[in-house]
Amino acid sequence: MQRIALVTGGMGGLGEAICIKLAALGDKVVTTYSPHNKTAQEWLRKMNDMGFGFKAYACDVSDFDSCKACVELITKDLGPIDVLVNNAGITRDMTFKKMTKADWDAVIHTNLDSTFNMTKQVMDGMTDRGWGRVINISSVNGTKGAFGQTNYAAAKAGMHGFTKSLSLEVAKKGVTVNTISPGYIGTKMVMAIPQEILDSKILPQIPQSRLGKPEEVAGLVAYLASEEAAFVTGANISINGGQHMF
Ligand code: NDP
Repeated sequence: MQRIALVTGGMGGLGEAICIKLAALGDKVVTTYSPHNKTAQEWLRKMNDMGFGFKAYACDVSDFDSCKACVELITKDLGPIDVLVNNAGITRDMTFKKMTKADWDAVIHTNLDSTFNMTKQVMDGMTDRGWGRVINISSVNGTKGAFGQTNYAAAKAGMHGFTKSLSLEVAKKGVTVNTISPGYIGTKMVMAIPQEILDSKILPQIPQSRLGKPEEVAGLVAYLASEEAAFVTGANISINGGQHMF
């Protein structure tokens, strides 16, 4: 039977590659976009003109009730969710000295609370059916830390604790929960960094001397979502060109 895969933030750089990969493997792929996103329908039309058959729903992942309503609608329209990829995320980078409570809250709510908000909607169904995959997209900086990212690194590190704890609770129920920690991937989030900073500060940190490709992260998501990955749970898998090893 065709699986239903929900990828939050599927219209972003990494999310789009993940949606394409899962669709290519035969999943019915559903994504979410922020309620203020003005280009969502255009993206959806473009992708579906290419034959992907994606569905997209407005959802603010930082808001529990919005996630609840969104997943209820998806379940009513298409059926229960088998694979959840918690991918939506933002940055509000600045030193701790300059960081306001609003900058802290925005990043924690969007990157960490969202993981609870979405997973909460699907987990009982997954354990009841005895099969499910939850894949959380964290970051190398959740483990390594990064100057100007106290909010982001805290949120991304929080995903690891969430993953390890939840994976224990559902291990006997056929559900795996894993985290992927990408290094610098060439999406618009990273391409927004000025070229001179990329060349002088970022590429020298990466032994492979290049940014990762969204398709490389998507391939890892596809593996963790697969039947072959059934014994992988509670893991935090790095994909960073050798930038940071743990
Ligand atoms: P993008 O900025 O390209 O995409 C982010 C996505 O998140 C967008 O689709 C956006 O949707 C969505 N989003 C943001 N806020 C909300 C919200 N409140 N509700 C719903 N959706 C929201 O980023 P990337 O593709 O680069 O990053 C994807 C994930 O990978 C993030 O979690 C990021 O932290 C992580 N990551 C990325 C790395 C990189 O190098 N690019 C490295 C390590 C981790 P919309 O446009 O509709 O607002």
